[in-house]
Amino acid sequence: VHFKRVRMNGFKSFVEKTDVDIVQGLTGVVGPNGCGKSNLVEAIRWSMGETSSKRMRGGSGSMEDVIFNGTASRPRRSFAEVTVILDNTDRSAPPQYAECDEIEVVRRIERDHGSSYKINGKPVRARDVQLLYADMMSGASSPFLISQGKMTQMITAKPAERRVLLEEAAGITGLYARRHEAELRLRATDNNLKRVEDVLGGMD
Ligand code: ATP
Repeated sequence: VHFKRVRMNGFKSFVEKTDVDIVQGLTGVVGPNGCGKSNLVEAIRWSMGETSSKRMRGGSGSMEDVIFNGTASRPRRSFAEVTVILDNTDRSAPPQYAECDEIEVVRRIERDHGSSYKINGKPVRARDVQLLYADMMSGASSPFLISQGKMTQMITAKPAERRVLLEEAAGITGLYARRHEAELRLRATDNNLKRVEDVLGGMD
């Protein structure tokens, strides 16, 4: 799987619908300071299910900061949307996408309404998008995306923090999340069984 296209609409400085093709090989983004190079990387990270507004650059603590906030000549927008098209012609995505040449992941945020996600047009939870990328070894905080200051952070990280990065690179973060969910379900089932035993005991 590789990123094929990113479409931004109302995201940060990308007020107009903007398509960026990511071709095979190395893609460089060049432009003057403040033209939106980092915002493009932020858009990809955000669409992958980043839930912490603190980890988004320059925010005041609200995820709505990613919505185009207006300029002297343009009114602010009411929503931001980022669409990522993944190329799955090599069929390396998780098995439920075995039929798809392309996987389209959309995240949208509306003022006062929060975020919603879609995979191939079907509404999904943030968790589903995060798991899709975690299974493909490239979560929103993945070492695949190296932002400014990340190298220093990696060098000065504590061993436990570095382990998280290595686990993400190894693609096992998704498995941890699934194990946690399975454990919660097991515990709930255990409680239900105990209640059934109590009820049956009371009938004797
Ligand atoms: P540098 O080379 O300095 O890192 P860059 O090309 O990476 O610059 P970005 O940091 O991606 O540029 O873009 C910053 C620009 O995005 C700023 O002009 C900022 O005003 C604008 N911007 C960020 N968030 C919003 C928003 N919510 N609404 C409108 N503009 C925004």
